[in-house]
Amino acid sequence: MNWIANFVRPRIKGLMRSATADTLWRKCTGCGEMVFHRDLVAAQNVCPQCGHHMRIGAKERFAKLFDDGAHEVLPYPEVSQDPLRFRDDKRYSERLKEYRARTTQTDALLAARGLLYPCFCTRKDIAAEIARAGSAPHGPDGPSYPGTCRDLSLPERDDRLARGAPYALRLDVGKAKAAAAASLSFEEEGAGPLGETGTQIIRADLLSDIVLARKGLQTSYHLAVVVDDALQGVTLVTRGNDLFHATHIQRLLQACLGLEPPRYAHHRLILDAKGRKFSKRDTAVTLASLRQNGVSVDEIRRLIGI
Ligand SMILES: [Zn+2]
Ligand SMILES: [Zn+2]
Repeated sequence: MNWIANFVRPRIKGLMRSATADTLWRKCTGCGEMVFHRDLVAAQNVCPQCGHHMRIGAKERFAKLFDDGAHEVLPYPEVSQDPLRFRDDKRYSERLKEYRARTTQTDALLAARGLLYPCFCTRKDIAAEIARAGSAPHGPDGPSYPGTCRDLSLPERDDRLARGAPYALRLDVGKAKAAAAASLSFEEEGAGPLGETGTQIIRADLLSDIVLARKGLQTSYHLAVVVDDALQGVTLVTRGNDLFHATHIQRLLQACLGLEPPRYAHHRLILDAKGRKFSKRDTAVTLASLRQNGVSVDEIRRLIGI
């Protein structure tokens, strides 16, 4: 090992620096050691000797940062080309032209967006936006998020983030669905509210840009159930049919995260005399109290249809 470290490596360093430095070895900008190119690629441009993070190009970074490399490069506002009229042995504009031809990009800086975007709306903002628009597509849980922040301009978004405005991360379902398989479905072994059973194709009208995480709470209901089910190896989800429609967005999330979907068995709810859901306030209606009042297990099964 010593022989390699003390003798061979410096020799190789000396040899390679001039001949094939660009292709086989690269000099670490942190410690100065020569690092084998393939090791550097495997370590995502982090020096195996000193842990220094070496530069990584914008396009390469996007490909690694976004799941499956799926992203959209955002247009940057155009800037003045040559405001100070620099000149050495060439005009600055000439140099720009050369570099642009070499990189096939107009700017060294790139910004991209994947499937998530920051939403700065409060509940009040969302209600006001829906009122202003006159109507909003209705999801199963009421009006859907109208997408106010989906198309915020880059400077506007950067400005709000820089000012520390609180935001939630929303899933762009249009993009998520486009990135997923052509037709997503789940298997229903029970029945939805309208008796839906068997293979259920994901319906676009039941999807909206849900919140996946917000400040101080780094998850959300939909994200948590999908990840927890997968982590716990759940293969059959049995739950009330008030969550049947939510299965559509949850199935899309599973596709985004590459998770194996469980099967579903939705069942009827036991409703009060007016057909409303019981809430936690209605302490009288628990399984235990039903059993105490002489309702048999079979009757309860019949009530919820399982
Ligand atoms: Zn290093
Ligand atoms: Zn918003």
